[in-house]
Amino acid sequence: MLVHDTTATGRSQAEVDQIRQSLRSRYDELTAEYDQAVMQSQVLRLVEVGDTAGDDQADSGTKTAERDTAQSLLRTILDRRAQFEHALTRLDEGTYGFCEGCTAPIPVERLEIFPSATSCVACKQTRERRAA
Ligand SMILES: [Zn+2]
Repeated sequence: MLVHDTTATGRSQAEVDQIRQSLRSRYDELTAEYDQAVMQSQVLRLVEVGDTAGDDQADSGTKTAERDTAQSLLRTILDRRAQFEHALTRLDEGTYGFCEGCTAPIPVERLEIFPSATSCVACKQTRERRAA
């Protein structure tokens, strides 16, 4: 097993392993969630193909809304999964727990609530303001 230099972060190998395990289990959960959501959206599509005949406008409107919801759910899951993937990469690089914006350490309390966080609250808010 590759042993990474963790002296820079002040974390012990055991701590890093623990973080990795929890990130990875969330990642796997999201993968399972994604698979399930894909299955559900396929069911939705089958139903749709099955009874297009005799649809009235209101009905097909509902289905479009359902499909949009399913698609945005898929996107959300993928986004979140990408965040965990990113956090795992940073953990391997030894930069996990440090802000991508200002490189300051992210408070442990924040990481406990958002294990996939890669920036401090201040930088996140700045970025969101810029994006808005
Ligand atoms: Zn920052």
